[in-house]
Amino acid sequence: MAVLNILKEQNPQDNETLRKKSRPVDGITPRIHTLLDDMHETLVKAEGIGLAAPQVGVLRRIVIVEIGEDKFEMINPEIIESSGEQEEIEGCLSVPDLAGLVKRPAYVKVRALDRNGKEYTAEGTGLLARCFCHELDHLDGVLYIDKAEETYTPDELEEE
Ligand code: ZN
Repeated sequence: MAVLNILKEQNPQDNETLRKKSRPVDGITPRIHTLLDDMHETLVKAEGIGLAAPQVGVLRRIVIVEIGEDKFEMINPEIIESSGEQEEIEGCLSVPDLAGLVKRPAYVKVRALDRNGKEYTAEGTGLLARCFCHELDHLDGVLYIDKAEETYTPDELEEE
């Protein structure tokens, strides 16, 4: 396994990749398994809760979410149900040193394939719902700063 480089929005070349739409995975190959393993290692190292393949420069519809015991590998994920609304402070490993207030659904249900190509659904509320939405946005080249009503630097957050 390997720790991958996480693309940064502040770097124009990285941002160009982050803004592209990712293509669906049409066959789960050993390469996809290696990518999932490397994304996991990268996420652990970065101490994040979610990572999308485009953030490591791979324009494929793959995300991982790891919040405590809730761990998901999602291939070709789609939100099939959502309801309610929540507004919380959000950050992104590709947008370091910034946080923003973003509105998201309070509940979402996602349909995806696991690493064996088996379809499953996952439901989330609160932080988990937020994380699903955030990571799936990456697959369409959308960053949370596009949706944030306000953004803050760490200093500004401390003052609050
Ligand atoms: Zn992100």
